[in-house]
Amino acid sequence: MSTKILIAPMRYLQGPDALTQIGQHLEGMGISNPLVIGGPTALGVCRETMIQSMNDKGIGSNFVEFGGECTFGEIQRIKDVCITGSHDAIIACGGGKALDTGRTASAGNAVNAGVVPPEMIENIGANVPCIQVPTIAATDAPTAKVSVIYNDKGEFETFLVFQANPAMVFVDTQVIANAPVETLVSGMGDALATYFEAAISYRTGSPVLAGGLSTRTAQMMARFAFDTLMEYGYQAMLEAENNIPGQALEAVVEANILLSGLGYESGGLAAAHAIALSWTRVYDLFEVHPTHGKFVAFSTLAQLMMEGRNSDFLDDIYEFCTSIGLPTTLQALGLKDANSEAIRMVAEDASKNVLITAMPRATATPDESGGFYDPNEIFNALMAADGYGRQFD
Ligand SMILES: [Zn+2]
Repeated sequence: MSTKILIAPMRYLQGPDALTQIGQHLEGMGISNPLVIGGPTALGVCRETMIQSMNDKGIGSNFVEFGGECTFGEIQRIKDVCITGSHDAIIACGGGKALDTGRTASAGNAVNAGVVPPEMIENIGANVPCIQVPTIAATDAPTAKVSVIYNDKGEFETFLVFQANPAMVFVDTQVIANAPVETLVSGMGDALATYFEAAISYRTGSPVLAGGLSTRTAQMMARFAFDTLMEYGYQAMLEAENNIPGQALEAVVEANILLSGLGYESGGLAAAHAIALSWTRVYDLFEVHPTHGKFVAFSTLAQLMMEGRNSDFLDDIYEFCTSIGLPTTLQALGLKDANSEAIRMVAEDASKNVLITAMPRATATPDESGGFYDPNEIFNALMAADGYGRQFD
């Protein structure tokens, strides 16, 4: 395969109080009866603004509370409400899991990309346009046509790829500035991985989730996400602490959601996400479950160890993480009793994740135990990342 591909949502809007304009954009797309889903907090901050804006354009709507986990059961429930109510779109408000649930419940056919070979699932959702309203900038999920599915215990189950990206992504930066600052920091952790994963995927000529090879454009976006974090990350955190949608926050929100979103989907994923998704296998060892972005941030450090980066380079990344409060040690990640058995489980699991095939020493097909990569090397990288981080404590 040598064809390059770049995919994106049809519309992306970002700015303070952007949500006041949702009615006119829905009208422009011919949507007259959307189903809105979200958790209680997300709906609490969006509901009134959205209803007002939709009422102004004569658009009716129905609101349903999201159950909290993106599982096949929850997806089916939302799909059923959408079909029963004859809704012509699903608007998902909230964080990554609510957005992934809305995206899946609105999709047509899906490909289960977490199994080898990938499987087709027919009509997983109601086959209506999907609108994403992130109320936090904690992940780069909103722009993508990919959802991560968990089981009822919150463990990673698989990821699904759909036929199309969201019809619209609406990012109200005043809402995001008002959210807890940790959410923006987590989003920076997720976005930190994008450049490294895209760059290594490009180097190894690995296919990207979009379904082809990476364009140079996607590589540029991934790189620009990284540069934006380095330039404005700390300042954006300070603005978020004061609930101000200032220029640094605007830049970082765009990096976290748009640049990182397009950068990962069309630029490539690699070890950082293979490892990040494997931490859920040892969920019980965490007193508080870290966010996706924190898992990704620490797993990125492990990928940098796998790449053999030198200490000058590592110091810049570790210092950035420390400055905004992203974890650089297992203890900071929240693993109180970090025993080597648990880290080995994570390494084993990551070696079996198809995303790791983007790394230089991976095999294209799995061995008899299902692995694409030497788990000992991943284990060593995790321990090295932790050891290096302890000097920044
Ligand atoms: Zn991610």
